[in-house]
Amino acid sequence: MLSFWVGVMESKSAQPRRGSAATRIAAALAVLLVAVYFLVPRRSAVEAAANRPINVLLIVADTLRADRLACYGYPRPTSPNIDKLARAGTRYERNHSQACWTLPSMISMMTGRSVVEEVKALPPQPTVLGEVARDAGFETAAFLTNQGLGPASGFQRGWETYHSLDNERADSLASSFVDWHSTRTDTRPWFGWVHFIDPHEPYEPDAAHDVFQGPRIDHARIEGQLRAAQSELEKLSPDPRTQSLEDSVARATSDSNRYDGEVLSVDDGVGAILAELERSGELEHTLVIFCADHGEMLYEQRQQPLITHASLEANGHLPQGVLELFGHGHRPWYYEHLWRTPLILAGPGMPANAVRSHLSENLDIFPTVLEALGLPARPELEGRSLWGGAESGHERVFAYGHRTSAVIESSGLKLIVHPPEMFLEKAGGEPKLELHDLASDPGELTDLAQERADDARRLLQEVRAWHARSPHYGSDRTAEEQLKVLKKLGYIEGDR
Ligand SMILES: [Zn+2]
Repeated sequence: MLSFWVGVMESKSAQPRRGSAATRIAAALAVLLVAVYFLVPRRSAVEAAANRPINVLLIVADTLRADRLACYGYPRPTSPNIDKLARAGTRYERNHSQACWTLPSMISMMTGRSVVEEVKALPPQPTVLGEVARDAGFETAAFLTNQGLGPASGFQRGWETYHSLDNERADSLASSFVDWHSTRTDTRPWFGWVHFIDPHEPYEPDAAHDVFQGPRIDHARIEGQLRAAQSELEKLSPDPRTQSLEDSVARATSDSNRYDGEVLSVDDGVGAILAELERSGELEHTLVIFCADHGEMLYEQRQQPLITHASLEANGHLPQGVLELFGHGHRPWYYEHLWRTPLILAGPGMPANAVRSHLSENLDIFPTVLEALGLPARPELEGRSLWGGAESGHERVFAYGHRTSAVIESSGLKLIVHPPEMFLEKAGGEPKLELHDLASDPGELTDLAQERADDARRLLQEVRAWHARSPHYGSDRTAEEQLKVLKKLGYIEGDR
């Protein structure tokens, strides 16, 4: 900025003299400009450099919890390429998704608005991120392996190229992006969305990625809690067909290891995509956003009685044994394993090797893209721009999915608001509240809702106010309908 103004002043001084009045005006103007430069609050040094991206690439890994990436502290080498991206950019340490499953989470990411009801597809309004990019002159292209985001759910809106693969392989998805990118002839800047279905179930890494063996990192704790719940299981399901404790422990280990293998396969896909951008010389001009739509539970916490009950009704016993008392997959749980997701921003305007530790959320992605590209801000967006490595400044972040709401505050206090039917109580009654304080109990093993009832009530009011001010699309299902869905068991199968 300063060198620009010095340049202007130098060129002016090189003009022929036009008399003393003109000289005095020029001098006064120069003084004024210098004064303005020092007195007017300036934007960050990063922005002043106008170091803006030309292209944008949004990479979403479905079902990827932050804590299974090495750059988020996992001791296994599951993510060398994603770690490299994090070193090249800014990593948001306490990011959260907007829902516990794909559809509401991705609707929120693409619209920049909260979803507080059971929607079945992207609503026709409001404007989505792809449309904004396309209308601003970008070539837009989406590549997906999640069939739940297929044309029937409306997610093709805004994407000139919309390629939904019929297989779930991360390498196939990466290849389809690379093929498009390496052969494109369009001279416009581009905006890409690549959505890996993995590490979503089924956890079936190919042999090259099925490399994590042996006890899971938290093996002792998981085995201990499964063992402790075994007598409870035997009362619920005294059936010889019920899986044994030993088999349940082995399954908890195997699922966790194969999940890690799928994370590694996604990481390889990310590596192939970034290598293509590097080869083409576009990487340094591209804002790369890496995130996930939600995480995954791998038996760390108890699950709601309704889900266990539904399995018992459908099968006559609990086929998976004691594992059926614990959360697996991504159902209405908002423990950090499921709710805390990675967010990495790398490229022009983003500080390298930086970590931000305040709360952020996937709603911040839309306004960040707008600011990075120099597009007008949109007042309806709920998130805040993180461009330039900014902290969001959010005091609290909310999420909703499967009739369950959650809020987390910057202090680490969080409330989960369960519908009563999840605890086999009458639908429509008072919600079941669950309060955790991550500052004192990072494993969320102690429910403080009774002990700190004032905090629970206060946060419940925050959740209710958030529901009231959020958009409503008129497609909410009743509690009874939800109950039916759960009882069917593919329980909620198809919710990806
Ligand atoms: Zn998902």
